[in-house]
Amino acid sequence: MVGDVPVGAGAPVTVQSMTVTKTADHEATLRQIYALAAAGADIVRCTCNESAAAEGLARIVPRSPVPIVADIHHQYLRALEALEAGVHCLRLNPGNIRNPKHIKLVASEALDRRVPIRIGVNGGSLHPDLYAKHGGKVTPEAMVESAQQEIAHFEDVGFDLIKISVKASSVPLMIEAYRQLAEVTDYPLHLGVTEAGPPPIGTLKATAGMATLLAEGIGDTIRYSLTTDPVEEVKAGRQLLEVMGLRERKNVDLIACPSCGRAEVDVFAIADEAMRAFGEREIPLQVAVMGCVVNGPGEARDADLGIAAGNKRGHLFVKGQNVMVVAEDEMVDTLVEWAEYIHANGAEAALDRASSTRAAARRAAQQDRDRNLNDRGDDANDTETAVSNIRMVPKSARSKPTRGRRDSE
Ligand code: SF4
Repeated sequence: MVGDVPVGAGAPVTVQSMTVTKTADHEATLRQIYALAAAGADIVRCTCNESAAAEGLARIVPRSPVPIVADIHHQYLRALEALEAGVHCLRLNPGNIRNPKHIKLVASEALDRRVPIRIGVNGGSLHPDLYAKHGGKVTPEAMVESAQQEIAHFEDVGFDLIKISVKASSVPLMIEAYRQLAEVTDYPLHLGVTEAGPPPIGTLKATAGMATLLAEGIGDTIRYSLTTDPVEEVKAGRQLLEVMGLRERKNVDLIACPSCGRAEVDVFAIADEAMRAFGEREIPLQVAVMGCVVNGPGEARDADLGIAAGNKRGHLFVKGQNVMVVAEDEMVDTLVEWAEYIHANGAEAALDRASSTRAAARRAAQQDRDRNLNDRGDDANDTETAVSNIRMVPKSARSKPTRGRRDSE
């Protein structure tokens, strides 16, 4: 338990982030903690890098909406101060606190208070002896060995309220380190790709690493380490867990077709507008924006609600069934209004609500579907034309000429 949040042992995977304010400035830090909690953070970490930060934590912890982890590097005394401040968890980087006596002192103080500790092994701060032993480089084996050595220090004093992380900035390295660690320990694992960088590449790296492990059942709590507003880290974390089905959906899951030659509307613009319109509304539905009525309703039939473009108008559908036709400039507003209705009343009620317009909506959709097929044919992307053009290219021009071969051949 980190405060009142369970971590590990089958509990839902949790999302963490870290404040970027000075912890000593407790008002600014609390404002950021509230913003992170509102975005979906389950646990928030604050640096405890000086005594003034520990004093800030003493003021923050009683007013925080989520459990607080104190982040400790190098100075074990800050860990003792953070415990006095009442934090719900410590994060230690034992690679930076190298004196086993200090590690054990912190562990026994934490044990008295039943405060868990995350042992955070980082590829970048591996003990020099391990670094040398493993060929002068950071390997998954070296990181796991480091974690095991640190666990032993804590277990020696009977401390087992442990979480572990073996983060690295290299995605393949962290994946392999966590896989190996999961083989040798049952302690909960905190996942992350450290120093992933700014979005979008940082988000991509962190997602690649964490999603791979989560799909294998490895990981109990996650943090995106992005070079951006930490609220974005939390949003990314929540979204990752939601799309993987590991947490209940909180906001709209907007799906949209990639557009193609058959599109009757600027799908990119409508999808962007819909994303903005739904924003942070807590509507846990899947909503589709599709570029044409030929394939849209069918391809998005599993969505709760969707709209497909056709001849300057939008065809609204609920669970794949056409319910009404709206003008093109009303597509997004209509989506939002119906999403709120379905969220409050359910899809069946929405279909009943549209009982008087459904037949006409179905006919209108069929008309636009037929017109699109007539205008653009079955091959709206001109694939067949391209294929026939390819076949008209003379064979000799397509094959690599052989030295000495005559053109007439
Ligand atoms: S066929 Fe229609 S729904 Fe499918 S990608 Fe093209 S425009 Fe979008």
